[in-house]
Amino acid sequence: MPIYQYQCQKCGKCVSVCRQNAIFQAPGQYPQIFPELCSACGACWITCSQKAIKTKKREIGRIYQNKISEDYYLITGEANALLEETGPVVAEVREFAQKFDSQIEIKIPYSKKIAKAYSKGSLSLSLKEV
Ligand code: SF4
Ligand code: SF4
Repeated sequence: MPIYQYQCQKCGKCVSVCRQNAIFQAPGQYPQIFPELCSACGACWITCSQKAIKTKKREIGRIYQNKISEDYYLITGEANALLEETGPVVAEVREFAQKFDSQIEIKIPYSKKIAKAYSKGSLSLSLKEV
């Protein structure tokens, strides 16, 4: 994440909010970010009123998608080793799972019990006879 010096006012707020101590600022100097310590929490670029911190995508973990059975998928995530703040990884995995869930067709066995619940409006799944 570069800091645009022509926008930075050396206020030091980004340094104060970084819980990972990933930003160093010598007295009177521009701050410097150490990417290897950064967890990508976003606190610094949200705090910076000058919009001087530019974001750049980088890999902080992986998402795995495994098909367990015909109608059952397992979505899991893994954070990079030494990543202290895993919240962004969890958020990405959740978002991926929600998008994935909305893309697959829900297939459940047709039964009279489900059909009855559906006709009463108490079930909002799209039913498909399998
Ligand atoms: S918060 Fe923004 S303006 Fe202030 S020191 Fe950090 S980068 Fe510069
Ligand atoms: S994104 Fe979070 S951890 Fe990374 S430098 Fe900014 S405040 Fe620190």
